[in-house]
Amino acid sequence: MSDDTLLDRALIRLEEAASHLQIDPDVIEKLKYPRETTKTRLMIRMDDGSRKSFLAWRCRYDDTRGPTKGGIRFHPDASIEEVETLAFWMTFKCAVMNLPYGGGKGAVRVDPHQLSKSEVERLSRAYVQAFARIIGPDRDIPAPDVYTNAMIMGWMADEYGQIVGQVSPAVITGKPIALGGSLGRNDATARGGFYLVRHLARELGLDRAHTVAIQGFGNAGQFYALLSAADGNKIVAVSDSTGAIHRPEGLDVTRLVAGKEAGRKVADMAAELGAKAIDPAALIAVEADLLVPAALEDMIDGDNAGSIKARVVLELANGPVTPDADKILAQRGVTVLPDILANAGGVTVSYFEWVQNRQGYYWDLDEIHQRLLKIVEREGRAIWSIAAERKVSMRSAAYIHALGRLATAIEAHGTQPFFVS
Ligand code: NAD
Repeated sequence: MSDDTLLDRALIRLEEAASHLQIDPDVIEKLKYPRETTKTRLMIRMDDGSRKSFLAWRCRYDDTRGPTKGGIRFHPDASIEEVETLAFWMTFKCAVMNLPYGGGKGAVRVDPHQLSKSEVERLSRAYVQAFARIIGPDRDIPAPDVYTNAMIMGWMADEYGQIVGQVSPAVITGKPIALGGSLGRNDATARGGFYLVRHLARELGLDRAHTVAIQGFGNAGQFYALLSAADGNKIVAVSDSTGAIHRPEGLDVTRLVAGKEAGRKVADMAAELGAKAIDPAALIAVEADLLVPAALEDMIDGDNAGSIKARVVLELANGPVTPDADKILAQRGVTVLPDILANAGGVTVSYFEWVQNRQGYYWDLDEIHQRLLKIVEREGRAIWSIAAERKVSMRSAAYIHALGRLATAIEAHGTQPFFVS
């Protein structure tokens, strides 16, 4: 792999999309850099009485189309570069789905598994104290990301409410239902991907009963497996960070999910499920019609992309396929349904949560699903048409679609030709 940074590689997508559109250079100048990234150190009291500090960031990448939106990640490898790249992706993801948001992201460099529950609560509240002037229901709206969850969002919303002196649930999404969370948020990312595959199945050449391999068996991977299996498809292989299992006749997904919920690793369940334990690195190469990366960034690169047998890749993870791998997959006729479309069900239902918080009126699950379905099918179809008309990949088409919307908004403020004519 080259030494380009994650953000450099993300910006390649922007330049590629711009080459297909008549875009004013002002637009690219605005989207090439994050608008603001704030860095701080969060000091908290540890359970043993000592004080400890943790690096933390919040990036508001671009807010032309609305308040910025994006999760907060607690991870020992978090970096400013990763935060800014994820915020860039959020800018495009919100534009792809036509949500009235810009893109943002936040992170704390910490391994939350090394902290007690009370320490995690103090850290979460410290994050909001540090960034209270940056976030807000009309400014920047965080959500959960890797190693943060609904309870953490609840603490953060509570802390924000105490600072501003009002209950303000719309400041954060992904909250517990009892604290203003939305129904349907837990499986929204997987459900959005599932609706997309089902809607485009004929065009993608996927049968009603296709086979699926899933890399990463957390929130996104498990819900995808449940939805897809319930629709008549066969989940033939899954992996987590410690191992992988393969069963060409299909895995019992319900038992697998129950095992994961009980804290077990997928490889430890191989024998009881009649499956074979395989090397996790071999998962992407198993015989399956659809490959679903649902783990981390950069898992499919120039070195391993050639081994993929699936005809379709659904990116539930953010950034799992590198630009090098994209080229190889395109040459081999593999269709990649890109992250900014494929996993955008999560931010779409987060948007529904924000809308419900602001109107103080809550929708039932059926309404959430119907609204999500409509948006996924509308934007998925539009991107499929752009790809067919311009003979580009679905990724390029998604960026072209989003960039068109961002450019229209940026140009509405006036660009060079307006001011010099
Ligand atoms: P999660 O932490 O619940 O699950 C991640 C899974 O990946 C775990 O099972 C972990 O064991 C596995 N994993 C880690 N390293 C692996 C490796 N090397 N090989 C195989 N598996 C590995 O996280 P999640 O919420 O499911 O998120 C997964 C991806 O989806 C991330 O890229 C995230 O940014 C993206 N995503 C999630 C949401 C959401 O709503 N959950 C929304 C949009 C995007």
